[in-house]
Amino acid sequence: MTFLCMINRTCLGTSRTLCRARRTYMRSPAIWRAASTKHPKGFVPPTEEDLLDLQERVQDFTRREIPEDVAARTDQQNEFPSEMWKKLGEAGFLGVTADEEYGGLAMGYQAHCTILEEISRASGSIGLSYAAHSQLCVNQLSLNATEEQKTRFLTGLISGEKVGALAMSEHSAGSDVISMRTTAKAVDGGWLLNGTKMWITNGPDADFIVVYAKTEPEQGAKGITAFIVEKTFKGFSCARKLDKLGMRGSNTGELIFEDVFVPRDNLLGEVNRGVKVLMEGLDLERLILSAGPLGIMKAALDLVLPYTHARKQFGIPVAHNQLIQGKLADMYTKFCASRAYTFSTARQIDNSSSWPTGTMINTRDCAGAILYAAERATECTLDAIQLMGGNGYVNEIAAGRLLRDAKLYEIGAGTSEIRRMVIGRAFNKEYS
Ligand SMILES: Cc1cc2nc3c(=O)[nH]c(=O)nc-3n(C[C@H](O)[C@H](O)[C@H](O)COP(=O)(O)OP(=O)(O)OC[C@H]3O[C@@H](n4cnc5c(N)ncnc54)[C@H](O)[C@@H]3O)c2cc1C
Repeated sequence: MTFLCMINRTCLGTSRTLCRARRTYMRSPAIWRAASTKHPKGFVPPTEEDLLDLQERVQDFTRREIPEDVAARTDQQNEFPSEMWKKLGEAGFLGVTADEEYGGLAMGYQAHCTILEEISRASGSIGLSYAAHSQLCVNQLSLNATEEQKTRFLTGLISGEKVGALAMSEHSAGSDVISMRTTAKAVDGGWLLNGTKMWITNGPDADFIVVYAKTEPEQGAKGITAFIVEKTFKGFSCARKLDKLGMRGSNTGELIFEDVFVPRDNLLGEVNRGVKVLMEGLDLERLILSAGPLGIMKAALDLVLPYTHARKQFGIPVAHNQLIQGKLADMYTKFCASRAYTFSTARQIDNSSSWPTGTMINTRDCAGAILYAAERATECTLDAIQLMGGNGYVNEIAAGRLLRDAKLYEIGAGTSEIRRMVIGRAFNKEYS
């Protein structure tokens, strides 16, 4: 624990980053997305101390509510522990970026990363479902819903009485999400939705789902609109829960929309402007989700550091061999570098909340933070298995689960290839 406290304090960084960020912005505006309302009114960026206090609160929560047996059972049974939603709500973690008026903490994106990191350290799959709810649904509503919609939807989502999800991907539209085929046809009083959505986290359990559909199919990206679909709407169903390699227990579903009537009151944002909601949401989604692999890397270190110091071969702890020291050092530095990237990107967003030009979200770094952390987490969890030898290969030990969970982060929220493409395109834009 002392060791990890040291890691945490080292990686949180300093407020000097803000000055550097401002200068970078002045040089290369093309890579930034200016957005004026990414935090609740009156938001004040948390101090380093606030974040450490929050981290300790989440650690208390996970020690109590997500001990190893809960994490192992969630994976083995491939079932999310549904009572966890209310516990997360009571702890205040479900609306970390949302306005206090609706029960949120209004603490911003560094705080959100802090919570997801610690939950994922305890259980990758509970962490993923948590993020789909708190970021993909709650934060998208916080940023784009009307006051009336916030009152109607956010309160229950933030207390944990309701479960949230976001449905963008389809069988034939994953990386190329703009090619989605789900349609929303205007009818009297609203729209009729038809189509399917695939791989939707919390899909089998969700009460409220942010759904993207084509209102003007022939207009491509300019014909997409976002809606809030309620589970009780006639014609909506979850066809099946998917059986996955990892993130088991984070329930993932295939959703069906058959003439689902969505009333005008459930339009999210503006008609045919859904791509703006989607793309801005994707930046923040990638940033927040980059804290998932951080938690998994921490869990890998939690396993191997004591193990390699206790396990003796040839009369000495295996950690006293240089080959093993090399692996431990690589795991540690990969974790620290990933964490520094995630938190400096989140800090720039929080610290720019009061800039007259609006909050600055760096698309390139949101993609970069998750690209880097996700690939490092897969490497670290493979190393964890190797460092534990035969024990690392048996399912009683969590190392295998960590590897299976880590791999998802190279696929979900846009694959590693698409993240590289996003970064490359940002450079192309900057130098064109
Ligand atoms: C567990 C899980 C949870 C998920 N949760 C959600 C959710 O809550 N909501 C949601 O909307 N979606 C969700 N997804 C979907 C996820 O976002 C997509 O799976 C992802 O975007 C990849 O799309 P795809 O699976 O169709 O792969 P494809 O797009 O078919 O890609 C296949 C391969 O080709 C590569 N590729 C594709 N295009 C290019 C290119 N132009 N250049 C180079 N390589 C390319 C990809 O990187 C990948 O390696 C989830 C997925 C999983 C597995």
